[in-house]
Amino acid sequence: MAKIFCIANQKGGVGKTTSTVNLAAGLAKVGQRVLLVDLDPQGNASTGSGIDKRQLELSVYDVLLGSATVAQARVQSPKLLDAGCGYDILGANRELAGAEVEMVALERREKRLKTALAQVEGEYDFILIDCPPSLSLLTLNGLCCAHGVIVPMQCEYFALEGLADLVNTIKQVHANLNKELAIIGLLRVMFDPRITLQQQVSEQLKARFGDKVFNTIIPRNVRLAEAPSYGVPGVVFDPSAKGSQAFVAFAQEMVERVQKM
Ligand code: ATP
Ligand code: MG
Repeated sequence: MAKIFCIANQKGGVGKTTSTVNLAAGLAKVGQRVLLVDLDPQGNASTGSGIDKRQLELSVYDVLLGSATVAQARVQSPKLLDAGCGYDILGANRELAGAEVEMVALERREKRLKTALAQVEGEYDFILIDCPPSLSLLTLNGLCCAHGVIVPMQCEYFALEGLADLVNTIKQVHANLNKELAIIGLLRVMFDPRITLQQQVSEQLKARFGDKVFNTIIPRNVRLAEAPSYGVPGVVFDPSAKGSQAFVAFAQEMVERVQKM
């Protein structure tokens, strides 16, 4: 059975999508079967995985509204398969923004993704969900089906402030909707060791959250930022780049964590 993880942080631009696509590629590279669910109407995880979001015949939108199954809507990217880092993608595009409103009238509206994923859980080792930068009904659907949340964060002062809101939301979902949900870990991303403040915040995180902070640190690395315009994760675009190597190390750390769960 797959372990399901949300990559979430209600702050925008903190590295959620970069973490999701590179973790997916890293896990695939070390032999794991992976489904990536793009739960953001921006569709960045789809594009970053080599999927043309405007050409999607079926997407996570159809799955949430019950007009398609995951098996019907998932797609693959030939570029990733060729690189030996293939994973399945349940894509998203702007249409998904409407789902938020349309789902309000539906039954069990926060459990629609959970119900849909239950049919394919046996086919994967990992299901990774790229959440939008909000604590919306879409994010709630992600949190309701996940075993854990991975929180990418930059080591900056305001990062800690935003974390409190996310922790509260996760506590509420845990209490009311999903007893399995836990914060798996905080992932330090876009890290620049030359900046003293980043080192200080990194130490504060370790002191406060202990082993909830992943050992792997993702450095700021331009190759990771360049990769999406080529429609592949950095791990595929430039495997020797420091950022790519960090994500493969993170994939290995996740495999080890899951064995202990
Ligand atoms: P949103 O909230 O809009 O969904 P996000 O949290 O998914 O954003 P990303 O899109 O992953 O964030 O990253 C934001 C920007 O930072 C992108 O331009 C991305 O290429 C860049 N970026 C992410 N991680 C790194 C890194 N480790 N090194 C350099 N640039 C990075
Ligand atoms: Mg994103």
